[in-house]
Amino acid sequence: MSFLDFIFPKRCVNCKKQGEYLCQNCFIFLSFDVKNLCLVCDKPSFNNLTHPVCCRKYSIDGCFSALTYNKTTQKLIYNFKYKPYLKDLTTVLTDLFYESIIQNENLAKLMADGTPARNASLSSASVAGGWLVVPIPLSNSKLKKRGYNQSEILARELSKKFNLPFENILQRSKNTVSQVGLSNIKRKENIKDAFELNSSFIINHSSLKNASIFLVDDVVTTGSTLKEAAKVLKKNGVKRVIGLTLARD
Ligand SMILES: [Zn+2]
Ligand SMILES: [Zn+2]
Repeated sequence: MSFLDFIFPKRCVNCKKQGEYLCQNCFIFLSFDVKNLCLVCDKPSFNNLTHPVCCRKYSIDGCFSALTYNKTTQKLIYNFKYKPYLKDLTTVLTDLFYESIIQNENLAKLMADGTPARNASLSSASVAGGWLVVPIPLSNSKLKKRGYNQSEILARELSKKFNLPFENILQRSKNTVSQVGLSNIKRKENIKDAFELNSSFIINHSSLKNASIFLVDDVVTTGSTLKEAAKVLKKNGVKRVIGLTLARD
């Protein structure tokens, strides 16, 4: 038993039973999300891709969600987000994230196809057609308060599992209020122009040209955040942006 386990004994986030973060009984409440919806119109679409009629110049090309959103998923993600000492939760969640992608044949194939981009620096031409894994950034104030970006943790773990390069390409250009509880329209307004390319990341714009990006976030609700981030990436030459999220609320 580690010191941390002694201070914070492992309890199931759902039923509070002592022993593990998600007990055997509660594990059955989890299922992979197989709804396959277009992020723009919310209607069924092939493989979660944005319908051709819903696509605009800077639209996100699709959005995959790993788990069906329910009370158990909600509690798991909440604990992952706000209780950093529950380190094992990261393993539970990233394993589930990985498994759900593997189960999706087309997506898994797409991720496997991007493998050659590994070890390529962004300035090299070889990254042009390859996939990068990029997290949705937190605002500096939130990052200071929380100490970590949960989306970055997920993105880093996925990049390792799929052998794809991880890059912190985006940063917040303004502080936004929390999207929780805001209407669809308010969310859109709140997140508008909230992202820009990371300034500490010296980048030659042409090097992002034709790159493909898996954009990682924990939960997608209306999709305003992912859509806004995708817009910035595409304006900077990125060819494809596919969202990867743990769950769709
Ligand atoms: Zn339980
Ligand atoms: Zn659509």
